Amino acid sequence: MHMMPCFTHRSCYVNFAEHLQNRWNPNLYYRNAPNQWSADDWERFLQMIKAFGFNILEYWVPPTLFNPSALRGEPVPTQFAATMRRVTDIAHRLGLKTKFIVTVNTIGAEWFFACPHIPEQKELILSLWRHWARELAGTDIVSIFPGDPGGCNRNCCTHETFVDLSLELCDLIRQENPRAQIEINTWGTPFTGWGSDLWHVPDWDGSWKKLIDEKNKTPDRPLYIWNGKSDRTRAAMEYFLKRLSGFPADCLVGINLGFSPDGDPTHGGDARPWAREVAKHRQIVTWDYSVSEGELICYPHWRLPRLAARRREERTAAPYSGGMNYTMSPKLNLLTFFAAGQLFINPDADPDQLSRNFCAGVFGEEHARLGELFEAFEVVPGWGHHPRRLWSKPVLRTLYAEMIERLEAADVTRCSLPLFPDPETYRQDLLWFARAFHELAGDHPDRVQIRKAYWKKALAIYDSIPMSADERAEHAAHRFADLLS
Ligand SMILES: [Zn+2]
Repeated sequence: MHMMPCFTHRSCYVNFAEHLQNRWNPNLYYRNAPNQWSADDWERFLQMIKAFGFNILEYWVPPTLFNPSALRGEPVPTQFAATMRRVTDIAHRLGLKTKFIVTVNTIGAEWFFACPHIPEQKELILSLWRHWARELAGTDIVSIFPGDPGGCNRNCCTHETFVDLSLELCDLIRQENPRAQIEINTWGTPFTGWGSDLWHVPDWDGSWKKLIDEKNKTPDRPLYIWNGKSDRTRAAMEYFLKRLSGFPADCLVGINLGFSPDGDPTHGGDARPWAREVAKHRQIVTWDYSVSEGELICYPHWRLPRLAARRREERTAAPYSGGMNYTMSPKLNLLTFFAAGQLFINPDADPDQLSRNFCAGVFGEEHARLGELFEAFEVVPGWGHHPRRLWSKPVLRTLYAEMIERLEAADVTRCSLPLFPDPETYRQDLLWFARAFHELAGDHPDRVQIRKAYWKKALAIYDSIPMSADERAEHAAHRFADLLS
């Protein structure tokens, strides 16, 4: 039975930035390191997400590439552009659109926050935008993203600076890619990282290192971003609404139900009235990042009821055209993609039934129960972790044991869904996690060994590439080994 999709904008956002590299994410930068995807890999991934219900592939041109090295035509950014042009061609052939986002002023692997009020830095921002708009001119949607990382409060920069810069960029992007639809994202406590949303850093030079120094912390500003209060939201959104008519008529505005990192009204107040106001003038979409995955530890997520609840609330709260589903593990979280794609089409679908249907399709009818068991993976504290159910360790251990038994027994040669990677690789990866969690839930797990095993399984790429500015991979391995302690 076919139904009209509830949401027309159904984006699958693969965040393959330099700090989120892992076994299940494509490596598009490091030629001598693992995890590179072939054109065939991309085609199979795109076929899968299309079959699940998505119609847009979204990705980030990350700071490593938003760098003067791109203007000099160095190999890494040049190769990246060629790859994404090829991916865009494949997407178009399959009837999908592509969207790229850029954090508006974040430059280089060191995450330098360029200031639009310093002429040379403004020039660099504009040159880089022009470069990428031209290099990726076949892209359907170009998204201007405020920050995280990114933003500025040097030289009197405020939320108004972000809006004014975005307006200027719309013209520039359209000059290079006349058919592009522009998206402007508000992200958190509008607009992430601009003006007083950033904490105050004495004599700040725009560097990431100096920005995150903990001595800048105050009770009023406990984090370097997300410090906006309701009055700040009001000022930012009122200014944005005042300038909104200057944005292209077909411009998309990304605005969540709330301005916190989880899309809740805990930071900067309730976003729904602003979403309704913006929707009177421009098409709106959500960009609810953490509802599907966090950013630290990779594991097979199971946030399906929350995903369903969000889609239903969006349908009711404001005239949204849709949103995106984020992943940093496109070769692992296939169940989430299936459920997310289906829920964009029909928010009334039952998330538990979707989970069982997926598992029946992949592992056989007799293992549909895996769809229930996988909820037991959702025990990892982190961004967006709001579990439906809490378990004791002995119960978890029983669930993992049954998971292992079923995954070992399952015959995936009759898999009825177009999976990428192939169903056997997917089964083996799930088994790896089931066994690791089973040990973690035991009485005396060997946590040193587990840390090493997780590094080898998930993060070994960092043995051959530079550690990211935020040293995230190191933190992830330690946290994984510490689970259920
Ligand atoms: Zn500035």
